[in-house]
Amino acid sequence: MGYNALLKRMGEVNDLLCAESMLSWDARTMMPPGGADTRAMQLATLKVFARNHLVADESRRLLDAAEAETANLAADSVERTMCAHVREAIDYHLRIPAELVHRRAEVGSKGQHVWAKARAENDYAAFAPVLEETLALNREMAECIGYEEHPYDALMYRFEPGETIASLQPLFAALREGLLPLVKAIGEKEAPRVDFLQRPFPVEKQLAFALNMARKVGYDTDRGRLDLTVHPFEISFTRNDVRITTRVNDDWMPKSLFGTLHEAGHGMYEQYCDPAYTRTPLATDLVGLYAVGGVSFGAHESQSRLFENQVGRSREFWELNYGELHDAFPEQLAGIDAETFWRAINRVAPGFIRVESDELTYDFHIMLRVDIEAALIDGSLGVADLPEAWNAKVKEYLGLDVPSNRLGVLQDVHWSSGQVGTFCNYTIGNVMAGQLFAEAKKDIGVRDGLASADYRPLREWMTEHVHRHGRRYTREQLLERATGRGLEPGPYVEHLTAKYTAIYGL
Ligand code: ZN
Repeated sequence: MGYNALLKRMGEVNDLLCAESMLSWDARTMMPPGGADTRAMQLATLKVFARNHLVADESRRLLDAAEAETANLAADSVERTMCAHVREAIDYHLRIPAELVHRRAEVGSKGQHVWAKARAENDYAAFAPVLEETLALNREMAECIGYEEHPYDALMYRFEPGETIASLQPLFAALREGLLPLVKAIGEKEAPRVDFLQRPFPVEKQLAFALNMARKVGYDTDRGRLDLTVHPFEISFTRNDVRITTRVNDDWMPKSLFGTLHEAGHGMYEQYCDPAYTRTPLATDLVGLYAVGGVSFGAHESQSRLFENQVGRSREFWELNYGELHDAFPEQLAGIDAETFWRAINRVAPGFIRVESDELTYDFHIMLRVDIEAALIDGSLGVADLPEAWNAKVKEYLGLDVPSNRLGVLQDVHWSSGQVGTFCNYTIGNVMAGQLFAEAKKDIGVRDGLASADYRPLREWMTEHVHRHGRRYTREQLLERATGRGLEPGPYVEHLTAKYTAIYGL
């Protein structure tokens, strides 16, 4: 009785979070600008209601009863895993005073305005006090959450449970060792031509083609839809309604196509979660308070990166699908063959802006942010010295001199919204995608599918090993079950080395 009653109550928490997500989707796709102020209040209210419903005395009473009722089951049974998630989340939220959460949200909403203006005016000094305040609040937050070695570990916990600044160091070192020589070698080679990607591609046709490709790799539009936004995202209201957005540039065609494949990868993680987990703690992030099923932000990113990069930017994919693209854009792509197109979408061009970076240099943008955030949080780097430290890292990793803070330290929205500790998941996702794709390709059915533009076997492999489990296993357990190994950068580095060696003749 206790267990079922607990699930019923956690279903209500999921409902509240889905309602909040719906208002958020609307705010980012449909809402007129005038709605912004009251919508921010509506979102905050629903988030607080969800949190309070989760930690309420009644929930704790039901949890005690559910734990007693399931005590004789195996420790790794579904029932006890559900209970453990609820216990962990309640403990987490009760360690953080509501007043602190409120203060951080306030600094976040104020900070975004200050940041937008500071960025536009290239005025770091105007943003520095907000950053100082954000760091102080996050340090306070870290002390409440608790950690063993480094306060940054506490902040990462919400996004990438189990990951620490110490555990990231060998991973980052291996990536630097494997990838920096590639970046340097490519810098001395001639870049592939990309001019034809900048020809005018009509928006409607771009969207139609991108959605067609998303469907082809397995995104289910009976339980999803694609809309236009400034910042692409994926959002779900249970597995039965999983929406994605993209942005379209009429002078840079790859943006909409790869943005859509990326978000479709996120979407499939939600769409193919075990239906039995719907509205339960195995398909709800009760710590982060999001109605999502993925086990960590990095695991989620593994699915988006896999379909965007490992599949979508592969030579094999375009050997098979280029004809369809050419049919959709015969004038723009006149005289361009599949090989030329494939080279163009894989051009390496070290740049200043993370969200515009190519597959090879992306991780350097992440590594520099993680190192810098950790140093800011433990106080070994002061806010006044941040631009200098940032620019030095960009020079070291990408060989570039940052010309302005606008193209440097002021580019990301994250800090202005009060968030610290969210960056590592992008690189973890890349590394995991490399491991999972290499493992999936050992399956003859998956390989045959990839060789004949039938992506169903690959999607089913991912569903079997990743999607369906929701939050049933930890990220490391999931990887070990799927590949026999924990997180390791080998297959990812091999993938990049092979691809760029072929393109650039290294
Ligand atoms: Zn993503």
